[in-house]
Amino acid sequence: MITPFNPGLTDSRIDRADQIRIDEERLADVQYSLRARLLKLDDLDPEIGPDGALSWGSMADRPDGAELLFLGLDGETPCFAPLIEDAPPAGQRAYAVWRYLDIMPPEEAATYAAARSLIEWHRGHLFCSRCGTRSEVAKAGWGRKCPNCGADHFPRVDPVVIMLATFEDKALVGRQPRFPPDRYSALAGFVEPGESLEGAVARELFEEAGVRATSVRYLSSQPWPFPNTLMMACIAPVEDDALTLDKEEIEAAKWVTRQQVQDAFDGAVDAQFIAPPHFAIAHTLLRAWVDGK
Ligand SMILES: [Zn+2]
Repeated sequence: MITPFNPGLTDSRIDRADQIRIDEERLADVQYSLRARLLKLDDLDPEIGPDGALSWGSMADRPDGAELLFLGLDGETPCFAPLIEDAPPAGQRAYAVWRYLDIMPPEEAATYAAARSLIEWHRGHLFCSRCGTRSEVAKAGWGRKCPNCGADHFPRVDPVVIMLATFEDKALVGRQPRFPPDRYSALAGFVEPGESLEGAVARELFEEAGVRATSVRYLSSQPWPFPNTLMMACIAPVEDDALTLDKEEIEAAKWVTRQQVQDAFDGAVDAQFIAPPHFAIAHTLLRAWVDGK
């Protein structure tokens, strides 16, 4: 692993094998190889075994009309995911996916996250954004090409900052109205065009909580497949602890101590809040702060 923080949904075993995506002959070789496997999905949700591992079928399981997305090589094994283009974008997440992510090993969840994000991107980008013609799957699933104007379109990733404001020996956690009861997490927001990571952290902290960052330190990142964000986790000491909340975004926020975060992790009976799930980078961020990293 490349980061000491081990966020969930990272470290997939799959080699993305970019050189195969653009080589039609090699792509056909891997696709028609007897070893090739197709990810089993229930629409966008994974099918998993009792150990939390993803389930794979043979290429004969390909649903009628499904395009193939080449995920890469797991050792010698070519791995694909099926794309049914005409299904609508998910919009609402099924609760089942949280239960699956809870028990999936991180490297399996990472493979699933890549497949899910890619499928959702295709479903939401069937038409050329230049000329409106229906585009076609290209680069073994890692792009679309417009047959009319020739434009290439590539899967997008939306950068999001997620940050823990700190003041003296406390950290700031908040909750959005859509969170389950008593769940608190780090604040987060999209990076806007023309903005640095640090600039986005400082702006979001001021907009959502009215606190001014004095510095910003990047810790680690995580792909989040709902639908396709790159979560970049930072810690930011702030000038003071007076809060002015943007109630549209943040329903409630509070300063918590390391012990209170540890109690939340432990599920203590008198815990002040419910911690983010272990696979979310907000959990990683809080863990790093509690451990003094
Ligand atoms: Zn076009």
